[in-house]
Formats: sequence, structure tokens, C-alpha cells
Amino acid sequence: MEVALVGIGKIAVDQHVPAIAASPDWDLAATVSRHGSVDGVPAYTDLATMLEAHPEIRVVSLSLPPMPRFDYARMAIEAGRHVMLEKPPGATLSECHALEELARAQRVSLYATWHSRQADKVPAAKAWLADKTLRSLRIDWREDVRHWHPGQDWVFEAGGLGVFDPGINALSILTEILPVPVHVTGAELKFPANRDTPIAVECGFHHPGGAEVTMALDWLEPGDPVWTIEAVTDQGTLTLENGGGKLTIDGQEDESLPGLAGEYPRLYDQMARLVATGGIDMDLAPMRHVADAFTLGRRVTVEAFDW
Ligand code: NAP
Repeated sequence: MEVALVGIGKIAVDQHVPAIAASPDWDLAATVSRHGSVDGVPAYTDLATMLEAHPEIRVVSLSLPPMPRFDYARMAIEAGRHVMLEKPPGATLSECHALEELARAQRVSLYATWHSRQADKVPAAKAWLADKTLRSLRIDWREDVRHWHPGQDWVFEAGGLGVFDPGINALSILTEILPVPVHVTGAELKFPANRDTPIAVECGFHHPGGAEVTMALDWLEPGDPVWTIEAVTDQGTLTLENGGGKLTIDGQEDESLPGLAGEYPRLYDQMARLVATGGIDMDLAPMRHVADAFTLGRRVTVEAFDW
């Protein structure tokens, strides 16, 4: 299948282009980006022109930041194309609901991707937790924003989510591995004095079984990132590290390897399946938690942030 990739920036170059190139299912047939391009691939600077020039390209993959994503997705869906959305699938829940409705009306596939759900050990963690009684769970997601989003001011602009940009990855894993849904009960959001989005967050959740579920996000962690979820249960402690890439149960590491390697190859594999079956996959649960944290969260102003 031919795919057009829109928004040739960090994640497109790091992950989408190599995943498409390595897949027997996909050909990168065009790019749309105001400044970026990929060697040897027809490049366009606006989506409307590309859609008109390439009626044979049935799939459009959007790797833009969340704020401009809705307009691009709407245009592609209205042109009858299947659409794949980077996380988060839009800037607001309402945008995402509107896109889903439009995709159903146009009978095209729409995929809200959550790349961290495709990490190697997420299925094993989900399977292990399925029959355990949860006592407590702690998400600890800390990284250096200067390393992971160098100079990307959009992450600190309204709609850019701030530290929830990586934090939503943890929430995408949480909502995948827990057998019951949780919801946010309170949050403290730390906003740098000169920015519109938080740089650190503490969050608490209600768990139907009474387990204590908490999350800490921090964007000023020097050195190696900490992307860990620890779940204490009646039958032992599960620790998911490296953003879902490493799993230990009571200190014993799970060495099993899943079939297809890599988060983004798995996303494109799922998109190929959705297109083949006419499916829509728009699970918005991770985004709902972020929206609730912004609604309930107490705002604290902290030191200004500069790159
Ligand atoms: P990025 O490099 O800042 O942006 C990607 C490209 O989108 C830019 O190069 C730009 O290309 C285009 N773009 C930016 N603002 C735009 C606007 N207002 N209108 C139209 N096009 C615009 O961002 P990124 O890090 O790749 O992140 C993109 C998405 O991927 C985000 O939703 C992020 O959460 C997700 N993601 C990022 C990472 C990561 O490590 N960075 C990891 C996983 C997922 P042109 O200027 O050429 O048009």
C-alpha cells in the first residue's frame, strides 16, 4: 500500500520513515511538509495539492504536532483517504470524536496510534496482571525535555500538553495493561512562569478495587530517562521499565521476545490490518485522563523554563 507521510520532523525521521522502509506492506509514495522531505520521495508543501496529484495514495499518516492535526486529518478523510494519527490523536477529545464520526461517514479507516502500547513487554504485563489483585501502582515517567524535544516550542504552547506529551505514553500503557478502568481524582500541575503547559505533574487515580494508583511526570530529569510502571499485587510485584521494553516479576526478568520487532513497525502492521478490514481504532482513554488532570489539577507556578 502506498502511504503519504505528513510532517517530516523528529518522529517522522526517527521512526516512521524507517518503519515504512522496512515493511513489505508499505511504500512511502509522497511527503507533505513545509520544510522537510525524504530523499527520493515526491515532496509537497501542502496536503491539498498532494491529495489531488495522487488519487492512488489511499493512506495518509500524520506525524505533525497535535495542534494542526485536526485540519489535516479532516481534509484527508474528506478526500476519502484512510488516516493514521500520531499520539495524541488530536488537541482535544472533541476533535477526535468529530474525526471518528467523519471517518465512519466516509467509510475510511482511522487509527489513533499509541506507540508505547506496542512496546515489547506490554502484552506480557497485561497477561500477568489479568488475574491478580492490585494493591498499588506507581507510574514514574521522568526525562530531559531538552534531549527529547530539542527546541520544540510547541510542547510548551497551549494545546502542546507539556510533560503530558511523554506522560500520555505511560497512560496508554496503563489503560492497556489494567483489567479495570481507573480515573483521575486529583492532580498538581507545575507550570513554568513563562510557559502555557506543565513541566511536572503529580496525579492520583481512583481504582475500583481500592488500590492506590499514582503518577509522577517530570521533564527536568538529567541523564537517562526513567519510564517505569511498578504494580504491587497479591501475588508479587511487576515492574515495567524502559517505557515497556523490560519486564520483571519479583526481580525475575521476562526474556520472551514478541514476533515483529519495534513499536512503529507494529503500528504500521495494525494500520494495514485496519485498512484491509475497514476498521476504526480510536481508543481515547489515555487522552481522557490528561483532559481530566487539566480539569481537576491544581496549578502551581514554578521557575521559568528556557532551552
Ligand atoms: P516536530 O519535529 O516538532 O514536528 C513534526 C513536523 O510537523 C515539523 O517538522 C513540521 O514540519 C510540522 N509542523 C510543525 N508545526 C506545524 C504546524 N503548525 N502546521 C503544520 N505543520 C507543522 O515534532 P515531533 O517530535 O516529530 O512530534 C510530532 C508528533 O509525534 C507529536 O504529536 C509527538 O507527541 C509525537 N511523537 C514524538 C516523539 C519524539 O520523540 N519527538 C516520539 C513519539 C511520538 P514542516 O515545518 O516541514 O511542515
